Amino acid sequence: GELPDRDRVRGFVDDAHARFAGVDDGFVADYIPALAAADRHLFGLSMVAADGVSHDVGDAHHPFSIQSISKAFVYALVCQELGHEAVLDRIGVDGTGLPFDSVMALELNAGATMNPMVNAGALATTSLLPGATSVDKWEVLVSGLSAFAGRRLVVDEEVYASEAATNQRNQAIARLLQSYGTIYADPTETTDIYTRQCSLLVTAHDLAVMAATLADGGVNPVTRERVVDAAVCRAVLAALATSGLYEQSGRWLATIGLPGKSGVSGGIITVAPGKGGLATFSPPLDAAGNSVRGRLATRYLSQALGLNIFASA
Ligand code: GLN
Repeated sequence: GELPDRDRVRGFVDDAHARFAGVDDGFVADYIPALAAADRHLFGLSMVAADGVSHDVGDAHHPFSIQSISKAFVYALVCQELGHEAVLDRIGVDGTGLPFDSVMALELNAGATMNPMVNAGALATTSLLPGATSVDKWEVLVSGLSAFAGRRLVVDEEVYASEAATNQRNQAIARLLQSYGTIYADPTETTDIYTRQCSLLVTAHDLAVMAATLADGGVNPVTRERVVDAAVCRAVLAALATSGLYEQSGRWLATIGLPGKSGVSGGIITVAPGKGGLATFSPPLDAAGNSVRGRLATRYLSQALGLNIFASA
């Protein structure tokens, strides 16, 4: 199937924005000091169809740091390089049921990471990037994510410096992984690359193009460039389904019926396989770290556009 025709899509995307713009619940993340300055009223939606047609509303062109949404795309690059099976064996793909920065999730599993969408598994995934030096690995990462977006992405140096100065917990997780032999490069360098990847600036529109590339079997529907194989997209979407929304991943799948990935700066991407990508941006988060307005708008659009992958008719 395809998305409904473009006028209907535009109408529903506009409607979703109007419906939820007034919701004022949730809290802007402040554990990374630079994120605390975000305007809680920002609200943007972008939908990019698998044929490249896009619908942007509100603050869809406002730049913000990608944060954990980067995990989906770095995982794609690593699966493309090493093969899905090899990555699955090392990283895992089951939910932890615990917060994204959990240390206990590692301790409970003898140091094995559970999935690539929480910090421990994401650090291990970043450590698997190809490249002889961290400069080479970074170039693989930034050129790969840029190909998903269809434009060259750059780091927000202020967000990077702010997180680098306060990311002792991620440094500790990387060291703990090292002690178990479940990180595959230097833990300090890996944490630095991970912190940079989280600081890449994107807009909701960029994220919708990136999500649409996953929806389109790995071909960017705007640039027409093949970024990863279709098999890699299936692997990424399965990982998003089990753990893209942290400990709310099951509830998300039950109410929205689509793979998604959130980040603490307030972005969420959602993929309708074969149909298109949706991105929402609204900084206030719920207790699990997922954007409140983003979840409401995505649920509305999944229902309005008939996107639930579990629906038989
Ligand atoms: N950079 C953030 C961190 O590691 C990303 C977390 C997130 O978006 N959930 O804490």
